[in-house]
Amino acid sequence: MPLTEPEYFRRQFAGAGGAHVAFSDLDRDGKIEVLVLAGASGETALYCLESDGSLRFRHSAATAVRYGSESFGPPWETVAAFPAASGTGLWVVSRNTFFPSVVQRLTAQGRDAGGYWASGHVTALLETTLGGRRVLLVGGTHNEDFTAALSAIDADAPSGRAPADSPKYVCDTCPPTPPLAYLTFPRPELGRIPGTRPSIEEIRRTAGGIMLRVWYPASPSGQHPQPGCPGGAAWYRLDERLQVASADFVDGYSSCHALLQAQGKLDHPFGEPDLAELLEVRRWPLTSGRSASRLGS
Ligand SMILES: [Zn+2]
Repeated sequence: MPLTEPEYFRRQFAGAGGAHVAFSDLDRDGKIEVLVLAGASGETALYCLESDGSLRFRHSAATAVRYGSESFGPPWETVAAFPAASGTGLWVVSRNTFFPSVVQRLTAQGRDAGGYWASGHVTALLETTLGGRRVLLVGGTHNEDFTAALSAIDADAPSGRAPADSPKYVCDTCPPTPPLAYLTFPRPELGRIPGTRPSIEEIRRTAGGIMLRVWYPASPSGQHPQPGCPGGAAWYRLDERLQVASADFVDGYSSCHALLQAQGKLDHPFGEPDLAELLEVRRWPLTSGRSASRLGS
């Protein structure tokens, strides 16, 4: 099952609380294992079955973590599992209801081989090679300001925590290792509608670099979408160093913008300033998990 298949990822994420099944040869011995996500809402676990149906392991993140004055978990909700693209074993994403999430690497036998703590929901993963190094790209939400965030972590030795400005969003009890790169993406006008938050829906490797699709819903989740304006998206293209090479709006962003202008909610037509805003990506330093600088891209 390829890690790059977005539909697979969406299916895995679609039904926390339901059961999801995937088949993979985790240890590459020619026999297929069965991965099942099952359990009650908020307490979903991963079950790995042998090809004969017997249980190889059950996984549910066991760690309790502290962010500022708050403690989180367990129980954790296991929301996605992917066979690793290189080597053996798998990636598992677990989360608290809103915050935080952990992306763990498990061996084919279910042993914990390291994990990275993200400061919000994780919505897309891609294991790939950047500059000769195996990395896992983690797309999700930076809950501090509800921007979309991309982390790059060492796929062979996953560890560490996402950075943030406020100590409230920095894990005190996690390994202090910063990600190899951490980017937060601006919230353009559609992304600033109260109650909404952008999310990274897809990360893809192409000949031109890493493609990232960010979705900006026009209505808060749980509310009926506006007729003619469900939301809009942007594609970012990143180079091998994860610098932004280009960005553009797609999928109804400009028509949604026109509708909001017609309703008097925006005072200008869609144009260059909107595009310029999209490029204000914040790149966090590689050497510190705490401080941050604003760099143009
Ligand atoms: Zn605008």
